[in-house]
Amino acid sequence: MESVNPATGEQLETYDSHTDEEVDEFLDRAAGTADSWQETSFAERQALLNEAADVLRENEDRYAQLMTEEMGKPIAQSHSEVQKCAWVCEYYAERAEEHLQDEVIGTKPNAHAFVSYDPLGVVLAVMPWNFPFWQVFRFAAPNLAAGNVGLLKHASNVPGCAKAIEEVFREAGFPEGAFTSLLVGSDTVDDVIGDDRVAAVTLTGSEGAGRSVGESAGKHLKPSVLELGGSDPFVVLEDAPLDQAAETGAWARVQNSGQSCIAAKRFIVVEEVYDEFVERFVEEVESLTVGDPTDEETEVGPQAREDLVEVLHEQVQETVDAGAEVQTGGEPMDREGAFYPPTVLTDVPKDSTGATEEIFGPVATVFQVPDEEAAIRLANDVKFGLASSVWTEDLERGERVARRLEAGMAFVNEMEKSDPRVPFGGVKNSGYGRELSRHGIREFVNAKTIWVQHGAGERDLVE
Ligand code: NAP
Repeated sequence: MESVNPATGEQLETYDSHTDEEVDEFLDRAAGTADSWQETSFAERQALLNEAADVLRENEDRYAQLMTEEMGKPIAQSHSEVQKCAWVCEYYAERAEEHLQDEVIGTKPNAHAFVSYDPLGVVLAVMPWNFPFWQVFRFAAPNLAAGNVGLLKHASNVPGCAKAIEEVFREAGFPEGAFTSLLVGSDTVDDVIGDDRVAAVTLTGSEGAGRSVGESAGKHLKPSVLELGGSDPFVVLEDAPLDQAAETGAWARVQNSGQSCIAAKRFIVVEEVYDEFVERFVEEVESLTVGDPTDEETEVGPQAREDLVEVLHEQVQETVDAGAEVQTGGEPMDREGAFYPPTVLTDVPKDSTGATEEIFGPVATVFQVPDEEAAIRLANDVKFGLASSVWTEDLERGERVARRLEAGMAFVNEMEKSDPRVPFGGVKNSGYGRELSRHGIREFVNAKTIWVQHGAGERDLVE
C-alpha cells in the first residue's frame, strides 16, 4: 500500500499489506482481548479514553500534518479534525455509562425486569479516507466505551493514518488487541466478516461498498451499520437570511475540499429569491482560497486522488451536456496536483447526473422551484437520505419543513454536520443504523432482557 501526496503527486511511503497469517493472529488477539475488555468497568474504560484524548492533543501537529500529506486536507481543517477526535473520546468517557445503564421495565409487582446492554465483542470497521481520523474515532470511542474491541480496515490510500490511529490507542494504554489496524484490501473484508471471532461490522463509504458489506453481513448473520453517500438538499425559502445562507452554503459545499458525505450538494431555491441567492452564493464560492493544503489560509485543497478528479469532471461534463450552466469553475485547474476548482452549476436538468448522483467534490448544483411544497418534493426526490438543511427566518416553518425532509438528519439555519452528542446516519440508499449518541452506542450491544421473578410466576399460553 502506498501513500501519495495528492497536492504534489509525490510518493510518501509504502507499507506492506498484512498477510493472511498476520490477519489470523490479529483476530485471535482481538478475540482474546474482547473477553477481558468486556469485564472492565466503565471507570477503567473512561480513564483510557481520556488518555487517548491527551495523546491526540499532544500529537496534534503530527497527526494533522499526516492527514494533509496523505489525502490533501487543508491543514487548518486537519487540526480541527484531531481536536474533534479528542472531544469524542472525552464525550464517551463521560457519557457511555449513562447511555448504557440498565433500563428497568415496569412489569408485575412480583417481578423485576430490565434490559442490560452487553458488548458484542470484536467489531470490524471499514472506513473511508475523507475524514481519515474522525470517521474512525466516531466508531471507536463509543464502541470501546461500550466494551467492544475494534478492528479497522481503513481506505487503501491512508495507511499512515491507519497506523497512527492504532498508535493513539496503544500509547493511551489500551490493552494489545483492543484496537487493531488491518492493512488489507477490500477483497479480504468478506472473509473477516465471516470469521467466527468477529461479531459485527460497520462500514462508512460508497453505496457500492455498502451493498457488498451488507450482503456479507446478511450471509454471515452479523449485525451491521452502513453509513453511505448522500446528495443533501440545502433548501432556501423566500424568507431565508440570504447572506448567511449563501456564506454557510458555500462552506457547507466545499469543506474538506467538497469530499464530505454530509456536504450540502443540491441547492434548492424558491424563485422569489433565486437570482439574489445565486449571485451571493457564486460570490462566496469565488472568494474561497484554493491552494497548497499546508498553508493555514487555504480553504480548498486538492482532491484526495488524481482518479477522483477524473470522475468528478466526468460528472460535471455529463450535467453540462444535459443542459446545465456553469456559473463558475467547471474545468480541472491548470496546476500540479489533483485540484478541481469550486464550481457552481445552475439550470440543472432533473434527470441529469448532477441531480441524481452524489457529487463528491466542490461542485454545487442549484435548482429553482416555485414554492415551499415544490422545494420539499425536489429535496426528497433522490435515492439518498443522509442529511438536509432548510433556511428561513420563521423557525416554526423551518421545523415543519425539517420534519418532512426524508433524511436521517435535518438542520434549520445550520449546515449539516456531525456532533458526538446527536445521532448520525441516513435512510434510503444512504444506509441504515446510527452512529454517536445513545442510539449509536447501542448498535453493537446485546440488549438483553433479564427477568427476575420474586415468588410464583404466571403460566403463559403463548410462547
Ligand atoms: P469507498 O470506495 O466505498 O471506500 C470506503 C471503504 O470501503 C474503504 O476502506 C474501501 O477499501 C472499502 N471498500 C470499497 N469497496 C469495498 C467492497 N466491495 N467490499 C468491502 N469494502 C470495500 O468510498 P470512498 O471513495 O473511500 O468514500 C467516499 C464515499 O463514502 C462517498 O460515497 C461518501 O458519501 C461516503 N461517505 C459516507 C459517510 C457517512 O457517514 N454516511 C461518511 C464519509 C463518506 P479500499 O480503499 O481498499 O478500496
